[in-house]
Amino acid sequence: MVDRALKSGHPRLNIIRQPDAPPPVSGVFVPRELPARPGRLEQQLRALWSPQVRARLWTPRHWLDQLRLRRQYMWEELTADELALDFGVGTLPDCDTCEEVCCTGPHRVVLLRLVDVAALVDAGLADHMTLEKPTYSDAELQANPALWDMVHSQAWQVMPVLKQDATRTCSLLTQDNRCGAWPAWPLSCARFPYALDIAHNRVFYARSCNSVTRDFSRSGRKRETALVDAVVEAFNQRLRDAVLLTVAREELRALGLDRYLKVEGNSAP
Ligand code: SF4
Ligand code: SF4
Repeated sequence: MVDRALKSGHPRLNIIRQPDAPPPVSGVFVPRELPARPGRLEQQLRALWSPQVRARLWTPRHWLDQLRLRRQYMWEELTADELALDFGVGTLPDCDTCEEVCCTGPHRVVLLRLVDVAALVDAGLADHMTLEKPTYSDAELQANPALWDMVHSQAWQVMPVLKQDATRTCSLLTQDNRCGAWPAWPLSCARFPYALDIAHNRVFYARSCNSVTRDFSRSGRKRETALVDAVVEAFNQRLRDAVLLTVAREELRALGLDRYLKVEGNSAP
């Protein structure tokens, strides 16, 4: 995964494929120029987050839902100025020179938000989503707290993930190691390797990205700001998803988003 602001075109990702892995089935993926964001469906979804729809949560019908959501989620949306960096200013991923395994691996599954689903549909990439999720052993989950959190989240039950090929590489990775979804790539890819420690209002640098550079230039600071904004956006969209999936099911169905989710009555892709 790579910083959105790294290049003006598709970001380049440095991937080491495992030497004995079978040839990737994603090799047939041909990148093309994708429409600018936000597309029509993404705009319609974002417009759903209106005061009128949010107010439904305070009606008697959703009183218990409101209590449940308050228990499960930080209630307020975040802003970037509430956060401190857990690392030095100008610390950025050095994607051009890194030799890390990124966008590939059994633990690198990308769980999507509603806005990601809408963006992928707008981009004509809906075939890269699936509700069939990998399973993990207790030992794997215990050794990886972030994975444990993801697998035990409500979103894991409802939302799709990006498909992986036989090498466990994201099906959107192109043969020349670029993100074939950019600029419609998911929020968790846009923010990586920055991640949120919500308990301490801090942004930390994911340990799984070891290729680090320091860039104090203006463009470096811009990349840093974009990554922090993506962290904030990823957090806020998680809260919005929880609310919309509770009070706006009809609207989500009307937008055709239901068919990508594991909810009653859909035909899962
Ligand atoms: S591991 Fe880090 S530096 Fe390497 S491509 Fe991924 S995000 Fe970039
Ligand atoms: S969408 Fe896939 S290829 Fe693109 S950055 Fe995310 S994991 Fe990598």
